[in-house]
Amino acid sequence: MPYISKNPATMEVLKEFPELIETELQQKLNLSASVFERWKMVSVAERTVLMKKLAEYLRQNKKELGTLATVEMGKPITAAMAEVEKCALTCDFYAENAERFLTSESVSTDATESYVAFEPLGTILAVMPWNFPYWQVFRFAAPTIMAGNVGLLKHASNVPQCALAIERAFVEAGFPNGVFQTLLINSSTVASVIKSSVVKAVTLTGSENAGRSVASIAGQQIKKTVLELGGSDPFIVLADADIQLAAKTAKIARLQNAGQSCIAAKRFILVESVAQEFIQAMTAEFKQTIVGDPMDEKTEVGPMANEQGLQEIVRQVEESVKLGAKIETGGHQIDRPGYFYEPTILSNVNSIMPVYQEEVFGPVAAVIIVKDDQEAIKAVNDTPFGLGASLWTKDLVKAKQLATLIESGSVFINGLVKSDPRLPFGGLKNSGYGRELSSFGIREFINIKTVWIKK
Ligand code: NAP
Repeated sequence: MPYISKNPATMEVLKEFPELIETELQQKLNLSASVFERWKMVSVAERTVLMKKLAEYLRQNKKELGTLATVEMGKPITAAMAEVEKCALTCDFYAENAERFLTSESVSTDATESYVAFEPLGTILAVMPWNFPYWQVFRFAAPTIMAGNVGLLKHASNVPQCALAIERAFVEAGFPNGVFQTLLINSSTVASVIKSSVVKAVTLTGSENAGRSVASIAGQQIKKTVLELGGSDPFIVLADADIQLAAKTAKIARLQNAGQSCIAAKRFILVESVAQEFIQAMTAEFKQTIVGDPMDEKTEVGPMANEQGLQEIVRQVEESVKLGAKIETGGHQIDRPGYFYEPTILSNVNSIMPVYQEEVFGPVAAVIIVKDDQEAIKAVNDTPFGLGASLWTKDLVKAKQLATLIESGSVFINGLVKSDPRLPFGGLKNSGYGRELSSFGIREFINIKTVWIKK
């Protein structure tokens, strides 16, 4: 199947790209293996210079790069450009900190000298989704390549122009040819790439199904994986929360990227004493949201990225409403060309409904009302996922205690869940394993080598 670039706001097919044929794929794998032998010998200081240039390239080209994301997957142009800037920031972060993260650590033992060295593994395959077509890739690539590895990208099939633009960015910044390559291949070809002796490890960001498949193939090959999978993050509002601020934040937490974010707040768990006030405030926020042409700088919510995602949201809402959910606002597809869905709030949600049980990857908030803090924590953990959580209360002592009870990779108190290059990012349970970003991310794909010396 070819890669098809289709504008989800207009449904116009923009471009098609053929899948790599077998010999082309093999050439790229060979190049990856040979360039690694040279790249691993390049000093971290020299890698730093190139990574800084890459950051500069991204900043200089954010309009063009941002536009590609907008036309391929529907993200509003302001958000797309902000995403490119965040990638640049992350390149700078690793350029400035990789030396420190990778310095050998001396350890006192019975040896004359013993230390731990951090060495690259080789070619790392990244299988990535379309929802943050640059950010997902750069948060893998910047640390991994600074550590001396080389990268291969199998990007989602609806964002081939972004995928090729990323490869071009590395070349334009001056990285040796082959340090980062895009493979236009179908997901069915991924298994053979994982099995190739060139590939040493795999990272996948995407759905549970894709994660299970990739991890089991890599497991057979005894190759390490990092999995960043789905989420159903709770947004917990306790009795003493700042309701107006929480409601304003809830709008962004749920509606950013048309709700298609793994760390979007998906389940709004409200203590009953403040539930109605919060629902009213959040409904007002959702009603004011500007939905429309993603190329318009005023637009806050664009279309969903594809027809399949839109139909899934339609199903989840319809089935939940049949089971008794109440529509506070929205609840329908928007009658215009493109895959637009109304910002939606469903209340009266209970545990038998799809919007409670499943990941809701669109602009639909599910409201769950609980009696008190204890019931809130029970509802928070009543999910197969464990990515992030946002907790709202003025009592910070209590907040820190509750944070220890939440089964997730992060807890944000009085703020929305976000990724930040300085902090580790990842999940528990069916949200995956391993960490990206910070000092933890750069150590996922390295050989932690013990060296023991006796005089
Ligand atoms: P997806 O269908 O799993 O696709 C993600 C990537 O995996 C794409 O490149 C896709 O290629 C590939 N893929 C799909 N099935 C595969 C298989 N069996 N073997 C090998 N590769 C396969 O996910 P999506 O629908 O694009 O993205 C949404 C999901 O990603 C949501 O669940 C979301 O929560 C999750 N996500 C998680 C994070 C995180 O950091 N935890 C971040 C963003 C998104 P094709 O496009 O060619 O199918």
